[in-house]
Amino acid sequence: MAAFVIHVGSSSAQGKRSNNEDRFVADKDRHVFLVADGMGGQDSGERASGLAAEIIPRVVCDRLNARVDASQAVQQAIEEAHQAIVKEGQHQQSSRRMGTTAVLAVQEKDQVYVAGVGDSPAILVRRDRIEQLTVDHTVADALVRNGTITAEQAKNSPWKNVLYKFLGCAEMTEGAEVRPFTPEAGDRLVLASDGLAGYITHDDLRQGARQFPDPQCWAEHLVQLALQRGSKDNVTCVVVAFDAE
Ligand code: CA
Repeated sequence: MAAFVIHVGSSSAQGKRSNNEDRFVADKDRHVFLVADGMGGQDSGERASGLAAEIIPRVVCDRLNARVDASQAVQQAIEEAHQAIVKEGQHQQSSRRMGTTAVLAVQEKDQVYVAGVGDSPAILVRRDRIEQLTVDHTVADALVRNGTITAEQAKNSPWKNVLYKFLGCAEMTEGAEVRPFTPEAGDRLVLASDGLAGYITHDDLRQGARQFPDPQCWAEHLVQLALQRGSKDNVTCVVVAFDAE
């Protein structure tokens, strides 16, 4: 038996945008947690993130029930959502391509499987250590990883919001990378859209995890903090708390 019990909190704000294209899943019963940040003209961003939020948890649970290995179940669910969004996008009139990021965490026995496509991060807060478990698939971050620009330069790069990998992206050739970890009592896992992540520091996460033991209170606080700091985007997070039994 796992030596922890899960609590979850979630919050989402439209902010200054005309609609909220972020979607989230905080499903304590199915042990599936997800944030998806949609993009595209008219209502197609919402449609894409909505498809991810509907398809991914359902497919993950179906595969797990069919005794598929958890990492594969996560990959297959992401692939199925991707295909559905590509297909839907072919019928769109809008000139802007339809797509969405997705970051998810699935708990299965004593492991949590994390995967992300796009730039919505999963961040693990363990005592004073902050670790981003996902890679940001922006062009600017890829340039940092291959040494072309520095992390500092990336902050002002015209490529910082340009994604090269997301659900619905026609060029997405390789699937999602799955990162498993073993939770410890006291861990906090934060899934966020970039409208939140871009405005929250590691210090905020360290302090907040101590100050807000209740994940719902912390999720609401994080959203308000990002808005106060001037986020003009949709602002969303899911906070998963692993507490001692
Ligand atoms: Ca966003």
